[in-house]
Amino acid sequence: MKVLKFGGTSVANPENINKVKSIVQNLDKEKVAVVVSAFGGVTDLLLGTSALAAKQDTSYKESLKTIEDKHINAIRELIPVQNQSAVLSKVKSDLNVLETLLEGSFLIGELTPKLSDKIVSFGELLSSYIISEFFKAEGLDATFKDSRELIITDNNFGKANVDFKKTNTLCEAYFSSNPNQITILPGFVASSGTGNSTTLGRGGSDYTAAIIAGAVEADVLEIWTDVSGMYTANPRLVKQAKCVSHISYEEAMELSHFGAKVLYPPTIQPVLGKGIPIAIKNTFDPENPGTLITKNTNGNGKTVRGISHVGNISLLSLEGPGMIGIPGISKRFFETLSLKNISIVLITQASSEHSICVGIADEDVDAAAEAVNETFEYEISTRKIKPVIVEKDLTIIALVGDNMKSHQGLSGKMFSTLGKNNVNIRAIAQGASERNISAVIKKDDVKKALNSLHETFFEENVKQLNLFVMGVGNVGSKFLDQIRQQKKYLKDELKLNVRVIGISNSRTMAFDENGIPLKDWETVLASGEQADKQAFFNRIKSLNYRNSVFVDNTASAEVSESYPNYLKNSISVVTCNKIACSSDYSYYKELKQLAKQYNSPFLFETNVGAGLPIIDTLKHLIASGDKVKKIQAVLSGSLNFVFNTFNDSVTFHDVVKQAQEQGYTEPDPTIDLSGVDVMRKILILARESGHQLDIDDIANEPFLPKESLETNSNEAFFESLKKYESDFQKMYKEAADSDSKLKYVAQFEDGNAKVGLQKIPKGHDFYNLEGSDNIVLFYTERYPNQPMIIKGAGAGADVTASGIFADIIRIGNF
Ligand code: ADP
Ligand code: ASP
Ligand code: MG
Repeated sequence: MKVLKFGGTSVANPENINKVKSIVQNLDKEKVAVVVSAFGGVTDLLLGTSALAAKQDTSYKESLKTIEDKHINAIRELIPVQNQSAVLSKVKSDLNVLETLLEGSFLIGELTPKLSDKIVSFGELLSSYIISEFFKAEGLDATFKDSRELIITDNNFGKANVDFKKTNTLCEAYFSSNPNQITILPGFVASSGTGNSTTLGRGGSDYTAAIIAGAVEADVLEIWTDVSGMYTANPRLVKQAKCVSHISYEEAMELSHFGAKVLYPPTIQPVLGKGIPIAIKNTFDPENPGTLITKNTNGNGKTVRGISHVGNISLLSLEGPGMIGIPGISKRFFETLSLKNISIVLITQASSEHSICVGIADEDVDAAAEAVNETFEYEISTRKIKPVIVEKDLTIIALVGDNMKSHQGLSGKMFSTLGKNNVNIRAIAQGASERNISAVIKKDDVKKALNSLHETFFEENVKQLNLFVMGVGNVGSKFLDQIRQQKKYLKDELKLNVRVIGISNSRTMAFDENGIPLKDWETVLASGEQADKQAFFNRIKSLNYRNSVFVDNTASAEVSESYPNYLKNSISVVTCNKIACSSDYSYYKELKQLAKQYNSPFLFETNVGAGLPIIDTLKHLIASGDKVKKIQAVLSGSLNFVFNTFNDSVTFHDVVKQAQEQGYTEPDPTIDLSGVDVMRKILILARESGHQLDIDDIANEPFLPKESLETNSNEAFFESLKKYESDFQKMYKEAADSDSKLKYVAQFEDGNAKVGLQKIPKGHDFYNLEGSDNIVLFYTERYPNQPMIIKGAGAGADVTASGIFADIIRIGNF
């Protein structure tokens, strides 16, 4: 014999019930018990309606009407017209009883657990009756049996305990004599020895099926639901979760106990001893093999089999000096909770015995705290023990697997993954069976924690990076192009799954939680919502994705002021915007420190030399113990272009104009020509070499006349260049006469930095610098005479975008 159970979604509507029928019809002609849940959502509706009635809220009537309609409509769709009236009259009379019960509760303004069970049992009683009539009408050899006549429990309404002796006898007797091939039974409901309706706890239809399977020693127990088996994590929260094809009873129990709702935890017990296999199957994909649960499976060589979580948890801690070495404290503590019928989900006690901490359901915690404070009233009044501390809105996440005990380093890996993603751990517990390691975390961090742990333990190779890009001008759009082109390569070769979740320019911003399709980003952005920097940040924060990276492609001071917010929320920052790193030293230092504290890299390679690996190289030199003695560099692509193009056959004005038109200068060319841009860059290099320096400490002898520098518009600036043409020609001639070229050089030595125009003689490393190239010479303890040289294109959207890209990959490898 087989026992099949169909859950709420599987019987949510006539269309799904037809799917159930096909599954049952396709079985061999062996005997089956088919246990069904209430139609999807009906149990919640019944509980909600009765709560309204008990509050004497008349709107319970509307809610009841919804329940009634659901059932009446199902009958009209499923049962042929000629059979409808009998079924309708039975169901209507049941609904009348339900109405009377609710009215009773409304009148006295109360809902006892006993009445609640009576009311909620209608969900399963009605669904199973309607389905059985449907099956009969379809010509199946089916009958209905009320589970309350088979499953006997105590009077613990809401979650009654089964009397297996009586139940097994009744089940055996019924199924051995029942002639029909198919018996349809309501899940979840049972009756007490004294004949009252009881229920088996939320999700309890699974248990009903298991009780029957155990009693009749079924060949298999099939749990038909809305997912294709038991997954490595809840597939609704972790997209990458995979079905576990074979798992042991113990692992399945542990996973379900820790929140894998797909199986109600007590379900395993009745079938475990008899070795009856459980199959978890998908009603909507019946061919899928799903999950098979049996005795030892040897874990198929895997250590961690699944990750689950239980929400709505509170921590209750008792601590105080008076607890150390005093026997009986724990006994009194646990006894108090037990007397209040409060179940404990997790326990931790430090070996110092200074505190005991338990995890319990949020709904129980106030009563628990009151009871414990009362028990320890004397100790609290004499200050030996502190009043209990309660922390609400937490969640337990747990790694589960039989083979975990024989492997070192799993908890290390678990906690470092959580730590790296800034998930704060409030308590830790490891079952003595070592089949589970649990951590208590904040409820808001659950999705992030599950996904990061899943990545660590099940997708070991692929790491997901979630990018939020602000600024999609020249550099930003090139960057998005590069990501699109390299996406596949990154995934296949570097095991990085890079997704752009949000983008913004100054007008609009757009988000797509599954990743913005990069070939259409312009359309997506154009139809986005109005841009707002704070809202952009708020959105990223509330998404709370692991490995989030904020990419700043703007040149905005306001954006650069928002970095601390990002870093403090463990969102890494990658920026080509130089403002932050060249502003006050204290701000630069703060950003570096936040990056360290929150494990969120702050990278700005493109601040100096665009895509050239200048800062990264410098970091490696310092990290390996080298010391920078001197830096000499040509760092301005724009000034290089200007002085490489300028000669006695063109005017300085025309060359600068050309540089501006070709995008080699900042929109305001004085930023480049005054040397401010170069000052910022050498400042950043000096700071990265370990020196405390501010922009005012840098000597700058401008080559432009004061008047040109002090102009207040681009037109006036260009006009003034014309006026001083002869001075510029003189500068050129002096250099040419001495076989030198003009280069704008930045230098840092002995803690001092300076920038300025220099005549560079033939043979010098700087002499042959072409176009907009940059060059940096690092003289260090290890490179004292022959400097380490980095040279190449130091400006342009493409190379800058690739520098940002390189920073993203660095974060991927972090
Ligand atoms: P039913 O109504 O069929 O009993 P449930 O809603 O009780 O279905 O259980 C199925 C749900 O369990 C899935 O839709 C899924 O959201 C949830 N779930 C949680 N953890 C897991 C897991 N590890 N594997 C599969 N499903 C899970
Ligand atoms: N209908 C009950 C519930 O929703 C039992 C079940 O579906 O398993 O909890
Ligand atoms: Mg269920």
